[in-house]
Amino acid sequence: MLWPDNIVQETIKDANGKRILNLLYKERQLTKQEIARSLGLSIPTVISNVNDLMAEGLVEEAGVADSTGGRKPVIIRFKADARHAFGVDISPSEGRVILTDLDCRILEKDSFPIRELRKYEHIADQVCRIIEEMIDRCSLKRKEILGVGFSLPGTVNEESLVLQNAPNLGIANISLREFADRLNLPVYIENEANAAAYAESALGVVKEMNNLVYVSITKGIGTGIVIKDHLYKGKNKRAGEFGHMTVVAHGKACNCGREGCWEVYASERGLLDDYRAGGGPAVTGIDEVFARVREGEPAAREALDTYLEYLAIGIQNIILMLDPDYVVLGGGLTKYKDVFFEELTRKVFVPNNFFTGGDTKILLSKLGEDASILGAALLPMQTLFFLEEKVI
Ligand SMILES: [Zn+2]
Repeated sequence: MLWPDNIVQETIKDANGKRILNLLYKERQLTKQEIARSLGLSIPTVISNVNDLMAEGLVEEAGVADSTGGRKPVIIRFKADARHAFGVDISPSEGRVILTDLDCRILEKDSFPIRELRKYEHIADQVCRIIEEMIDRCSLKRKEILGVGFSLPGTVNEESLVLQNAPNLGIANISLREFADRLNLPVYIENEANAAAYAESALGVVKEMNNLVYVSITKGIGTGIVIKDHLYKGKNKRAGEFGHMTVVAHGKACNCGREGCWEVYASERGLLDDYRAGGGPAVTGIDEVFARVREGEPAAREALDTYLEYLAIGIQNIILMLDPDYVVLGGGLTKYKDVFFEELTRKVFVPNNFFTGGDTKILLSKLGEDASILGAALLPMQTLFFLEEKVI
């Protein structure tokens, strides 16, 4: 197909505009000369694009820099409050909504319980109500809002905006397209672990690092794969279902219909099962088990040891499959670094012929329980910042 000249021109200009915005986002403020040098662009190209970005309100002039002679160069500064995005995280227990600026600073947050709602329609009503309230409270104009990103606990098709299957929510084949109509805003969706992986690579402990696998340990195990800064999702958008790799042949039954899946043994549920199996008293959650480990209770220590054994097996499998720079662990467990981390690392890097602790690092998420919701808020920002789709 032949493209008219003006369209090619427009595309190139747009790409340079995004590159400049990206650079200013990272560096915060630069002179036009510095921008030109850093991106290998001509001064007229930089001036034209910076003018466009200023007209959009995305950057502003911020004084002058020292000059070595001649006119003092004007400093161009990134405006983090020029646009906003909403992040929505739906988990089996609660729905959360945040409003952020372009730096992903959380400006507003609210939540609602999911359990009593159950029905999807009611969840949708709550999300829309909270978003409209935040828009009113902050006096936001629609054009200043890049969109609403959803982090969902299941497999999603982000192109058709369909939540394909969320067994832990008990819903399947739900289209989230209606949100776009109801809110009059662009809508984006992503799987919970992928959203968290995305946030970790963009904002978290491994900012700017290339290859990582994010392992979200909650009631199940979700994993997200980032390769060279891109989310790897695979042909059918199902890559990274490491939670369902078999770690025990003919082992315990999993929600997915298979047996011996990693998540049955290494999720929070796995730790609670180990504690109960060891004859420990009834506990309500992993916080209690960790408290008992800290108190030195032998049954709790033994349960944790068994649990870490399984957690380590899965991490070893991931390292053998993908050889990542980092494996980042997220979830409630990460609060107890002092109790489990050293032992887990020892179990993962037990001497073997393939890898050592020097090859792959295990890290704990810095973003904690906000990882997936920040990843959700980042989704609408991709259109503004990034030159290409961040998914392969
Ligand atoms: Zn399974």
